[in-house]
Amino acid sequence: MPRFTATWTTKTQIAPTVYEIVLETKETLINYKPGQYINIDFGNSKYRSYSISKLETISNKTKLTLIVDILPNGLASTYFSTNLPPLEFACIGPVGRFTLLPSLRKKVFIVTGTGIAPIIAMISQLSNKEKEDVEILFGVKSNEYDYLSRYLDTKIVKYTICISEKADIKNDQFNGRVTDYYKTHSIKYVNYDFYLCGNPNMIKEMQELLEVSEFDSNKVITEKFLLAKK
Ligand SMILES: Cc1cc2nc3c(=O)[nH]c(=O)nc-3n(C[C@H](O)[C@H](O)[C@H](O)COP(=O)(O)OP(=O)(O)OC[C@H]3O[C@@H](n4cnc5c(N)ncnc54)[C@H](O)[C@@H]3O)c2cc1C
Repeated sequence: MPRFTATWTTKTQIAPTVYEIVLETKETLINYKPGQYINIDFGNSKYRSYSISKLETISNKTKLTLIVDILPNGLASTYFSTNLPPLEFACIGPVGRFTLLPSLRKKVFIVTGTGIAPIIAMISQLSNKEKEDVEILFGVKSNEYDYLSRYLDTKIVKYTICISEKADIKNDQFNGRVTDYYKTHSIKYVNYDFYLCGNPNMIKEMQELLEVSEFDSNKVITEKFLLAKK
């Protein structure tokens, strides 16, 4: 697998526990497909995976944008929240099979939290016409995590924000989990591609819901944000 060194260049807080992290490499990363991730070494070969939300190559340098949720006392989380750039990382990648299917079917993206990161990369490569056909169910804790318009033109891309905590819910928002939204809206998806990303429990429940929904013309692909083994 390709190894590279990256310099962490910027850190921007975009939600109460979420940072946008930008890395730069001196070499051009080849064979990247939107949806893939990199593995970062946080010392002694303790790797953590982060999906690429944007990859740009500017005069032989590659700029990678990551969206990172900070978990209490997590190894990478503590590193990102307590340190400041510039710092160097040893990385592996880009890797992963969670990429756009070669298909003309419409696309539904069902994601929780920073599971939105690879989806941003995938949708950014679509034409405006294709973007109009996309639907996103985006599950977050509260309104403060609704940062999607920083990354996608939300006038073109349709998305429903599902807020799990009891809160001030605006008209276009849903109070509950993405799975609750799916269950209560009896959505008739026939001949769609489903992309599920983020919390492994959400993915398991959505897979079960989609299995019982008889729409076997649909294709479902997943990326579970599993924690590293201890
Ligand atoms: C393919 C893939 C892509 C991913 N992409 C992203 C992404 O784009 N953005 C993102 O934010 N995350 C992503 N993740 C998740 C990410 O890799 C990390 O798992 C996550 O950031 C937590 O890492 P950490 O080192 O901070 O926490 P860890 O050190 O792994 O700990 C995780 C949590 O477990 C707790 N914990 C630690 N040890 C124990 C223990 N012994 N018993 C009980 N609890 C314990 C910690 O307190 C912490 O809250 C991805 C994961 C995968 C597999």
